[in-house]
Amino acid sequence: MRVSSTHSGAGNPQTPHPTGTAQVPANPASPAPTAKTAGRRAEDHRHTAVTTPRRLTVLSGPSGVGKSTVVAHLRAAHPEIWHSVSVTTRHARPGEIHGVHYFFTDPEGFDKLVANGELLEWAQFAGHHYGTPRQPVLDRLVAGAPTLLEIDLQGARQVRAAMPDALQVFLAPPSWEELVRRLTRRGTEPPEVIEQRLAAARVELAAEPEFDVTLVNTSVEDVARELLNLMGLS
Ligand code: 5GP
Repeated sequence: MRVSSTHSGAGNPQTPHPTGTAQVPANPASPAPTAKTAGRRAEDHRHTAVTTPRRLTVLSGPSGVGKSTVVAHLRAAHPEIWHSVSVTTRHARPGEIHGVHYFFTDPEGFDKLVANGELLEWAQFAGHHYGTPRQPVLDRLVAGAPTLLEIDLQGARQVRAAMPDALQVFLAPPSWEELVRRLTRRGTEPPEVIEQRLAAARVELAAEPEFDVTLVNTSVEDVARELLNLMGLS
């Protein structure tokens, strides 16, 4: 039985770990490393694109896997964790609040942010744009706050290239069938968008070995606990 746990991702043939971006885990006070983080610890690191305190954690994984739920759970218990609010061109879902869940903008507004270099990373996902405002993240890192980005694979790769100190965590579903069920059950997207998201999910799942550690989302509580451990906050 798969339980919420760290998982090396072994068995997936693709291991496109980029050279030159390996670095120790993000937090100086992080707990005993898993096999994967231990491997990265041992790797030599020669060039760091951006020098920031090692407090940045990236949480990635396919749409519908439950990243937002895990982050909300984590922050309810640990409000000291700062979670970046992304900018997106998609419309707000019922209950989503501008400035809390996302900063909602139109394509022109998004393009301006890109042109002005105001995004740390950005991606096109299922027909919309998503990006992380750069300055708030840098401010929190300089202040030494535990900082969490919840972003897709394309964004995770950009952050890995720019900030190799960041700990990269992959949230995986217990099974493909469960991911389909969660995406469908959510009822927030029409069938064609669910199809787009499932197509993206296949690509994201294949990229799991790029990440420092994988948590399988069988239980929000367990994953949140594991994440806290990894962030050195438990
Ligand atoms: P949703 O539309 O379901 O809120 O998000 C779709 C996907 O975009 C999710 O995988 C989510 O993690 C990702 N995402 C949210 N914000 C950002 C961001 O700022 N940058 C990137 N690259 N992806 C994001």
